[in-house]
Amino acid sequence: MNDHQWESGWADLHLHSYCSDGVFSPSQIVDKAAAMGLKAVSITDHDSVRGIQEALIRAKLWNLEVIPGVELSTRDGELDVHILGYFIDPKDRELSSYLRRFQKERLKRAKKIVAKLAELGVNIELEEVLQRTHNKGSIGRPHIADTMIERGYVQSYDEAFYKYLGNGKPAYVPKFKISPTEAIDLIHRAGGIAVLAHPGMDLAPNDVLHLITLDFDGIEILHPKHSSEKVNFFYQLALKHNLLATGGSDCHGDRKGRTLMGYYNVPYRFVQHMKERLKLWRGTE
Ligand SMILES: [Zn+2]
Ligand SMILES: [Zn+2]
Repeated sequence: MNDHQWESGWADLHLHSYCSDGVFSPSQIVDKAAAMGLKAVSITDHDSVRGIQEALIRAKLWNLEVIPGVELSTRDGELDVHILGYFIDPKDRELSSYLRRFQKERLKRAKKIVAKLAELGVNIELEEVLQRTHNKGSIGRPHIADTMIERGYVQSYDEAFYKYLGNGKPAYVPKFKISPTEAIDLIHRAGGIAVLAHPGMDLAPNDVLHLITLDFDGIEILHPKHSSEKVNFFYQLALKHNLLATGGSDCHGDRKGRTLMGYYNVPYRFVQHMKERLKLWRGTE
């Protein structure tokens, strides 16, 4: 095959397993992707790489490529910025030690939220919330919301966020965060590609234009929260700034009623482009 003939096929490069706040196990995700005929997936759990190994092993059953990924939570002033890392070494020591620290901070935060909820008359135990995280995966607000639903304090996930857990709501506690630049450097030092996640979700156009001046390698163009106009806009932006284009379903399972996986696939050539970029770096080192 020559360089101009990209392999065909599709990839979903943004998926959450129960190692963060998703519902499916890494193996379930791999099985579903294989059943859908996808060529590649990336498990991009929030601040966790725990699901990668299981996915890699499971994928051997199928003709499926698993790209080691992660989605790091960062803060830039008042902005929450999510950054995807692809082709990272999940065993990288610096990344691992950072992620361990982050998990500790998440647990502290969950404790604070549970305490605030108790003051508001919502009595749930931290233990109940913890039971919802598999293998001590990243504990987060979705686990707390699920517990509140089960205990009958709210009817739905959205109600839990709207009344209690959302930004600025009575039981809100800010997360411990690093800066986008720190996250990009961490990803680079772990051998990966740093991508600005879902820029059209809650970032203003000016914020996006500022952020892409940082050392990003790519920008997520396809995402369930992006209209087709936005997809097109971000694609043009990627071309203009020589950024890699990525995309995926950001599927967390079926907590909100619908499983998004399979509906937001990008052409496999996007993956090839990432590999070409990595080869270029490695070749010049
Ligand atoms: Zn995100
Ligand atoms: Zn995500």
